[in-house]
Amino acid sequence: MGGLATAAILSKEGQKVLVLERHYTAGGFTHIFKRKGYEWDVGIHYIGEVQRENSILRKLFDYVTDGKLKWADMGEVYDRIVIGNRHFDFVKGAENFKNQMISYFPEEQHAINKYVDLVFKAVKASRNFYISKAIPPFLNKLVGRFLRKPFYNFSDKTTDEVLRSLTSNETLIKVLTGQYGDYGLPPKQSSFIMHASVVRHYFNGGSFPVGGSSQIVGTIDPVIAASGGSILVNAEVEEVIIEKNTAIGVQMKDGKKILAKKIVSNAGIMTTYSKLLPSETVEKHRLKAQLKKVKPSVAHASLYIGLEGSPKELQLPKTNYWIYPAEGDHDSCVERYINDLSQPFPVVYLSFPSAKDPDWSNRYPGKSTIDIITLLPYEAFKKWADTSWKKRGNAYETFKKEISERLLKELYNHLPQLQGKVNCYELSTPLTTQHFVNYGRGEIYGLDHSPSRFKQKFLVPRTPIKNFYLTGQDIVTAGVAGALFSGMLTASAISGKNVLKKL
Ligand SMILES: Cc1cc2nc3c(=O)[nH]c(=O)nc-3n(C[C@H](O)[C@H](O)[C@H](O)COP(=O)(O)OP(=O)(O)OC[C@H]3O[C@@H](n4cnc5c(N)ncnc54)[C@H](O)[C@@H]3O)c2cc1C
Repeated sequence: MGGLATAAILSKEGQKVLVLERHYTAGGFTHIFKRKGYEWDVGIHYIGEVQRENSILRKLFDYVTDGKLKWADMGEVYDRIVIGNRHFDFVKGAENFKNQMISYFPEEQHAINKYVDLVFKAVKASRNFYISKAIPPFLNKLVGRFLRKPFYNFSDKTTDEVLRSLTSNETLIKVLTGQYGDYGLPPKQSSFIMHASVVRHYFNGGSFPVGGSSQIVGTIDPVIAASGGSILVNAEVEEVIIEKNTAIGVQMKDGKKILAKKIVSNAGIMTTYSKLLPSETVEKHRLKAQLKKVKPSVAHASLYIGLEGSPKELQLPKTNYWIYPAEGDHDSCVERYINDLSQPFPVVYLSFPSAKDPDWSNRYPGKSTIDIITLLPYEAFKKWADTSWKKRGNAYETFKKEISERLLKELYNHLPQLQGKVNCYELSTPLTTQHFVNYGRGEIYGLDHSPSRFKQKFLVPRTPIKNFYLTGQDIVTAGVAGALFSGMLTASAISGKNVLKKL
């Protein structure tokens, strides 16, 4: 998303841009795949703010797609938090959200009002922080500190610290942090700013791209092509070519060299600095020391399910389900599971993409899909890291089967009408993510969203190497919106144009 957005914005400035993608299909985590007559989205289940035509995010999407990408609203309830046998709905509209939470926790009215207030305040402080990432270095020296300071008041604290300053009601804390899977870190480890930005992002509900996630690349492609640029797939960059501390092109895996005036990496900072830059450059700028200051995010498993019957016939909801164990806070549930994978999953996320896309049944009549996601540590799969895709051996397949069956059981617990309707399923593991998206430890969201991540001044578009830039979730935050916004920052840093003002 970050690379495509950078390319589209620069194309609109008249530049000719080539996007190189190592996978056989473009889009990164916004790509889709097809098997056995079904189609699954990988890294998009819902996006906030796009249903409001005048939101910055919607304007940015309209800008990079020439208004061609259409959105389907998920309806009143975007997330359902399930804890044991109780459930709590996140409803559209901040006021409605507050009232709904107060109806579940009437004695916590004051805490809930204050919480929503803090979420808005934190997000308000974010805008200048991100702008400081793109302004020219001399200006940054003058005003950067003042732009960033209000943000640190929120980003330095963990989500848990902020919530505990408002309430001691454990269930309320567990419910309000029930979207932590959207950024991968439980409350005691995550920065409150990340929590607040996700919560605020969905306050006005969730939307899904009409026609599925592939519409993102499908609608951006013509914008890039209009300026003479293009997207190449099966095009793996081996190394960035650097001469006299200036990036001049890329060396491709197939031996070809491609020269360009500016090079942008959307491969994630870990991959970029540890695999794609020459070792002399990495040493010269002590880039390994930078990487030690950040951590890769957790990895995940996703069960992609194909079902017989339309979403309507199967009564599939549009709402996402976040299923949590009845006992323990999120952090202790994660810890218990990481130490022993046979313990209950700390989170199970059910998403119903075919029910969210109004065009689905035109394309796939009489069929439906469901995705189930949970955390899965890379370490559990390390022993198979040297094997190749589809040939990882029986032990790997058995482990996958075990996890798939546990996840299916969760599905049937909550939607018993689906018993006997599942046609096929396939589980992705951290090695799948490593294989297809090139994240070294199969991480789901790039870098961890801890308080210290937001303090790192190197997570910006400009690098110490002339004409070499970064983009993508690592320089803003995880999420399609974060990655899209990163493209705007990188394009602004390259072109010197204030794209935000233009929007
Ligand atoms: C399971 C899952 C569910 C998600 N759900 C949501 C959601 O509902 N809503 C939401 O907003 N966000 C969601 N996200 C997050 C969101 O998808 C990502 O944060 C975002 O798409 C990341 O974009 P990016 O620009 O950082 O690039 P990425 O998508 O990470 O893409 C990086 C690209 O670089 C390519 N690459 C790497 N190395 C090379 C190389 N050497 N040569 C050429 N190409 C290379 C990769 O193949 C890849 O295409 C989800 C993510 C996952 C994994």
